[in-house]
Amino acid sequence: MHTNTANERVRIFCPATIANVSCGFDVLGVALAGVGDHMLISRSTKKGIRITKITGQDLPLDPHENVAGVAALALLDHLNSNAGFEIEIYKKIKAGSGIGSSAASSAGAVWGINYLLGSPLSPQQLIPFAMEGERLASGVAHADNVAPALLGGFTLVRSSNPLDVVCLPSPSELYATVIHPQIEIKTADSRRILKTNISLTDGIKQWGNLGALVAGLFKEDYPLIGRSLEDVIVEPVRSILIPGFDLIKKAALDAGALGCGISGSGPSVFAFSKGAEKAKEVATAIQAAYTPLDIPFELHLSKINPQGVCLEKA
Ligand code: ADP
Repeated sequence: MHTNTANERVRIFCPATIANVSCGFDVLGVALAGVGDHMLISRSTKKGIRITKITGQDLPLDPHENVAGVAALALLDHLNSNAGFEIEIYKKIKAGSGIGSSAASSAGAVWGINYLLGSPLSPQQLIPFAMEGERLASGVAHADNVAPALLGGFTLVRSSNPLDVVCLPSPSELYATVIHPQIEIKTADSRRILKTNISLTDGIKQWGNLGALVAGLFKEDYPLIGRSLEDVIVEPVRSILIPGFDLIKKAALDAGALGCGISGSGPSVFAFSKGAEKAKEVATAIQAAYTPLDIPFELHLSKINPQGVCLEKA
């Protein structure tokens, strides 16, 4: 069952997302199929938003302190709605992992409420309200995680103001292997160490790669995707905050991954592969390389999610 009678209640899957994707710092993102949170959103007779349950993570129930509440309230405010909703959040994605934990909750909240209201807005139109949740989480209302979480597949934020998000195709055999070392990197720290200026030489390399990556996605040209997964601007600086980053990258590439880079602001690191078998081999190689470091880690293996937030399968 997807919903109960008269759509009073909806159970949804809210995908994890990889932002930046090497050469696409602050503009590219992609949704994952096999990793994500679950939410149960119900109509309430009491106006406003109440978060009644959170499992899996210690996060605030106060809707003004939880990204799900902030995003939901921004949507209700925009719709001038007197409706009320109760939200239950079942977290599977750890906060601060770099695979869009806050974005999953922000996107899920606005998607679920919009659904229960009869879908007055399209998923594209929901992005600005989910971005308000991101503003609470990181101080910046960025779209690079919430756009793929809502629209699925790869998305490109051509402009944040005015918002212009472009959907890109997801090659059918593309798989992601993600390692999440269980260390904390504060998003503020990983932003602070970034250079504010870049050289023209680096700029040329980066936009060459980004353009070619987009072309590779359209053409389903896996070798081109692999050659383009290079980040000469952010990765050299940020990777120093991730212990064993070079080991992971070498293991992934030696095992035949198309490319490997930092997911969001880290500490998670992703590798793309062609086919599930190769993605498994890459996971095994990363596991073997990282185990001696004695840093606990989680590994995820996932197909690209072409859909974004969706009704939960029975
Ligand atoms: P990620 O990139 O994985 O989303 P961030 O560090 O950007 O991680 O965001 C997590 C921050 O957002 C944490 O400070 C967390 O307490 C806060 N937060 C508030 N509500 C939620 C929620 N529902 N899910 C995840 N994080 C939340």
